[in-house]
Amino acid sequence: MTEPKTKVLLSREEIAQKVKHLAGEVSRDYSGKTPLLICVLKGAVVFLSDLMRFLDIPVEIDFMAVSSYGKSTHTSGVVRILKDLEGSIEGKDVIIIEDIVDTGLTLDYLRENLLSRNPRSLKIAALLDKPERRKVQIEPDYRGFYIPDEFVVGYGLDFNEKYRNLPHISVLLEFE
Ligand code: 5GP
Repeated sequence: MTEPKTKVLLSREEIAQKVKHLAGEVSRDYSGKTPLLICVLKGAVVFLSDLMRFLDIPVEIDFMAVSSYGKSTHTSGVVRILKDLEGSIEGKDVIIIEDIVDTGLTLDYLRENLLSRNPRSLKIAALLDKPERRKVQIEPDYRGFYIPDEFVVGYGLDFNEKYRNLPHISVLLEFE
């Protein structure tokens, strides 16, 4: 099988600059607090690890895994928890760390699910946003980049579990 072609959309330098900027905003907004960063596995793991190292406030981290596209590039609309948090979030200042908002269904589900656990506050940080595909009204509080409606890989994002280790974000061309 030949490898699908990719085209760089965001370079590692552009991403690093943006993540640093977002970390500055988070550090300022949460000054004097210790937010809990909830990383949505697996795609947001690279974003989380870069973002948290640019923060100059104390943080806690936890991980959650939800079902997404599986081996396809189209959302099913059904969200399932595959791995839940280790600890309680009651009374905590929670920030969901997500790789990309597409239809918004995943984040909408996560937001409602986490709100029912009584955090003190809940915000969303998403590195990428594809606004054209939105099906539910949801906006990240911290947004890295708006991107067009194309399937992207790299910097944690996969296609059939591959490409997560690319240091940049690329559009996947000529696949399926
Ligand atoms: P939503 O529920 O907003 O439609 O989708 C969110 C999830 O779909 C993301 O967390 C991500 O796992 C996946 N996703 C959406 N768009 C893309 C994309 O362009 N590339 C990859 N690799 N995953 C995507």
